[in-house]
Amino acid sequence: MSSAPHTLEGVSGSFETLRDLSLARGTLDRAGLRRREPDLVPLLLKDPATRILELVGGRVQVIESDRGYALLLRSPGEQDTNRLFLFLGQDGHGTAFVGVVGGDGDSQESSGTALWRTLREVGVLLSDRDAGMFVTVQGLANWHVSHTHCPLCGAVTEPDQAGWIRRCAQDGSEHYPRTDPAVIMAVTDTADRLLLARSPHWPQGRLSVLAGFVEPGESLEAAVAREVLEEVGVVVEQVRYLGNQPWPFPSSLMVGFTARALDPTLRLDGVEIAEAVWVSREELREMVLAGRFGISPNVSIARRMIEHWYGGPIDEGVTSP
Ligand SMILES: [Zn+2]
Repeated sequence: MSSAPHTLEGVSGSFETLRDLSLARGTLDRAGLRRREPDLVPLLLKDPATRILELVGGRVQVIESDRGYALLLRSPGEQDTNRLFLFLGQDGHGTAFVGVVGGDGDSQESSGTALWRTLREVGVLLSDRDAGMFVTVQGLANWHVSHTHCPLCGAVTEPDQAGWIRRCAQDGSEHYPRTDPAVIMAVTDTADRLLLARSPHWPQGRLSVLAGFVEPGESLEAAVAREVLEEVGVVVEQVRYLGNQPWPFPSSLMVGFTARALDPTLRLDGVEIAEAVWVSREELREMVLAGRFGISPNVSIARRMIEHWYGGPIDEGVTSP
């Protein structure tokens, strides 16, 4: 199955931003005000017109479609009553969409032609609406799993407002879903070579652009400059915004930038980066064709940023999963 066509914007150094990033395409009206309706959950669970998306162990069911895959959505059932309920929003016809999160005991057995797939596997192959729903369900579910207790008093917290907050049973404090901003940067030198690097956790041959989390008290641009300096010892300037997309593994928002190195001399920190290299477009092409280089997956903003610099899609046959 081929992946979705890419829209490459701003290829020749203009300040256009990346459009249609795979995980930044949601179309549902989130209808945030409805989350406070006191009977929203029982009301939607009683309505057969409600569309349910079931997440079990990071997978949802998909069926093949013209574009690639479509989410398998169904009416509410008895089994949904005691599950984590996540109100995702509604479409232009007023149809409500709800995520439910299954537990360890829930089956991932395929029914009919449906397949259980992860967001990484099908993120680029879903429609805009479906991609947005999967990203939201995955991100919210991740947050619930890791925020079961109150950070103030340690008591158990319970989901409220249709899955959009957790409330402490002891002191009543409200806790909101987290999104952690991370910067990711395509750094080039004065010869327009691109900086690629390998994390020590990655296999040999896998390279990507640098990335890191934003720290308290720091702007996005300052985080770009700090991370590049810390990881490879390079000073950058001309830090410019390129695009962003959610990355719910578990809770990041990836904010992409370009930056220019004043001096290409690399001094690796040896902890976060195992190797780093400057590549020309010709060198990258040769590495890809020779199979010596696994590129970030299509669903990632890293892949789109590398292709943005490269000037077009990179050969599909040699990508890492
Ligand atoms: Zn508390």
